[in-house]
Amino acid sequence: MNPEQHNNPDTPLPDVVMPKCPPRNLLRGQKALVTGANSGIGRSVALHLAEEGADVVVNYIFDEQSAIDVVTEIKRKGGQAIAINADVSKENQVKAMFAQMFDEFGTIDILVNNAGIQSDAAFDEMTLEQWNKVLGINLTGQFLCAREATREFKRRGVVREISCAAGKIISMSSVHEVIPWAGHVNYAASKGGVMLMNKSLAQEVAPYRIRVNSVCPGAIRTPINRDAWETPEAYADLMKLIPYNRIGEPDDISRAVVWLASDDSDYANGISLFIDGGMTLYPGFTEGG
Ligand code: NAD
Repeated sequence: MNPEQHNNPDTPLPDVVMPKCPPRNLLRGQKALVTGANSGIGRSVALHLAEEGADVVVNYIFDEQSAIDVVTEIKRKGGQAIAINADVSKENQVKAMFAQMFDEFGTIDILVNNAGIQSDAAFDEMTLEQWNKVLGINLTGQFLCAREATREFKRRGVVREISCAAGKIISMSSVHEVIPWAGHVNYAASKGGVMLMNKSLAQEVAPYRIRVNSVCPGAIRTPINRDAWETPEAYADLMKLIPYNRIGEPDDISRAVVWLASDDSDYANGISLFIDGGMTLYPGFTEGG
């Protein structure tokens, strides 16, 4: 591609495959739990944490085989992983998952609260069941897992050879923690809730050297939003919202999660890190306004 084309924002650029940096063993000796780790972003996060040396719990609720596949891939590369079935919205199942993790791995250093769903409807047609289900998984699920992790981080404290911090919680939020989303009120409410839950929790537990941060993806190519990227027409429509003019890939998010899990980000606490190709830059104002 010549520079002239490159400088023309109307010329669609090909989707970019990021070059892969060699792992730096940033998370050696650390124990991580990733919820919803058998698909999409969670799968990529589990693989990246393992590549950096963490032992990983691959949480799943459906499709055991895909969770086993993630575990197998981690082990093939020399890492340690186990799959644990648990519904993050159910207190007893979350407690049992953490108990099993502590039995097998001894402790937890990194929690990635990733599991999430959408159940869309016009507001006046949304059922209470749809509302409760999305809030139950996306917000209460994050609360239940963060609470178990925080209890263990406080009990154990900092282990200097492992990390500067007593523990790290990384939440998968969304650009919709700040962008309103008509037709998806339950989802936007859940992510807005994650934002203030995390910032309040970060404030509360910072003195214990526990760090709590969110990653806010824009549009990432996963099953959750297949309708938005699967056809050329849908993809073209989506690009109107993304100044960087490409969809995000799960690995774009995992690299940010690895950074937030590592001591490289030791002074980051209570942040919402937007990884969105500029979706939160009000692209409608590029020519309007
Ligand atoms: P995905 O559908 O591929 O993954 C969601 C995962 O959550 C799946 O593994 C699913 O089985 C799991 N899950 C659902 N309910 C669960 C429950 N009750 N208990 C345990 N696990 C459960 O979609 P994804 O895009 O990888 O989504 C991951 C996270 O990223 C979600 O929190 C989502 O809101 C967030 N996110 C995604 C995008 C995007 O564009 N893909 C954008 C912003 C935020």
